Amino acid sequence: MSVSTPIQVPEQSGVDFPARIPAVVGRELRVPLVTGGRVGYANLDHAASAPCLDAVQDAVNELLPWYASVHRGAGFASQVCTRVYEGARARLRAFVGARETDSVIFTRNTTDSLNLLARALLRKTSVVVFDTEHHAALLPWGGPRVRRIEAPESPAAAVRALDAALAECPEGPRLAVITGASNVTGELWPVAELARVARSRGARTVLDAAQLAPHRPVRIADLGVDYVAVSGHKLYAPFGAGALVGRADWLNAADPYLAGGGATRAVQESSVGWNLGPERHEAGSPNTVGVHALATACAELAANWKAVGDHEEVLLRRLRAGLSRIPGLRELSLFGAEHDRVGVVSFTVDGQDPGLLAAALAAEHGIGVRDGLFCAHLAVRRLLHEAGSDSGRAVRVSVGLGSTVEHVDRFVSALHALVTEGP
Ligand code: PLP
Repeated sequence: MSVSTPIQVPEQSGVDFPARIPAVVGRELRVPLVTGGRVGYANLDHAASAPCLDAVQDAVNELLPWYASVHRGAGFASQVCTRVYEGARARLRAFVGARETDSVIFTRNTTDSLNLLARALLRKTSVVVFDTEHHAALLPWGGPRVRRIEAPESPAAAVRALDAALAECPEGPRLAVITGASNVTGELWPVAELARVARSRGARTVLDAAQLAPHRPVRIADLGVDYVAVSGHKLYAPFGAGALVGRADWLNAADPYLAGGGATRAVQESSVGWNLGPERHEAGSPNTVGVHALATACAELAANWKAVGDHEEVLLRRLRAGLSRIPGLRELSLFGAEHDRVGVVSFTVDGQDPGLLAAALAAEHGIGVRDGLFCAHLAVRRLLHEAGSDSGRAVRVSVGLGSTVEHVDRFVSALHALVTEGP
């Protein structure tokens, strides 16, 4: 289905979905808001997947007629696609400010990237990970040398906890898994400080930038991290593409993530010579359209950080001010309400079922939010406990470039009405 095809929704829902997804801020936003008594769909679930930018849609449309297999084709379309594919690699490298020697490996998403890295760890690598991580960052690391540390109450305590955990690791290679921004609370982690203590303990770091990269510049060298993982669908691009960027040595020493064509140099009856570099882990025909979409989205964001930041700041301030007026609302927080965050807020409301609230917001008001444990079960359970909530799950609302002030205002008044008057 083309992204420009309106999604079919039941007639009685009263919701008009946008025919075209909004452009990056600074260009005209083409989402119909309130039209003829019907309500424009308000996507306040950007943290799950962000809508496709106009520039990305245009780039995809331009490429689709030339879609062909990369690298191995002699034909014109194959040459076009090979250039597009390798051009996307260069744009990803620029987006995260990768070092000359870093590999840029295309994957399906952040989960795939982190699993790839987990398979590429040297023998006997000790891994330290905070227990509040998204499951994509919490679960890929197996074996006895994995140490989960309890999430601390402040950024400074996080740095101390990581330092202490790494100090206790046995001799040998070490990896610290850290996250840029929480997918539950949006709060920013002290990435550069965590990377600094990791370095001082001889450990490498991998940054789960799934939630950070759509909102703030992520520069590998500035942050001092060794690996970064991102997902295209959170960066305003569709088509199942992501990337793992980072130090090539472990990646080149590892077995190929997938065995198959493209990863091989030469295959003999009794032996296989595997490529070095990104090809080693990219066997099979790649997702050229997806990586082109991802790279285009990255370039758009990089050219618009100021506008992105300004837009989100206005929305987030308005959102949190609105939420503070809802009776019985408890906001979840790792580091305290004042801590810097991207546009993600999770909360519960006393006496209200989060699932029913989310369903009523969707069905009655055309507002898309999320409820549950957000693939971070340990984090959400702990934060609910600390917030004094017994609801067992939470509601998450998240804003981005597809969100408008009208969406936020509609959400706040709808939530207020649901809480005070009932669905
Ligand atoms: N890490 C964080 C912080 C996330 O928010 C998510 C997705 O919600 C992921 C990792 C996994 O991303 P994906 O599902 O694109 O692999």
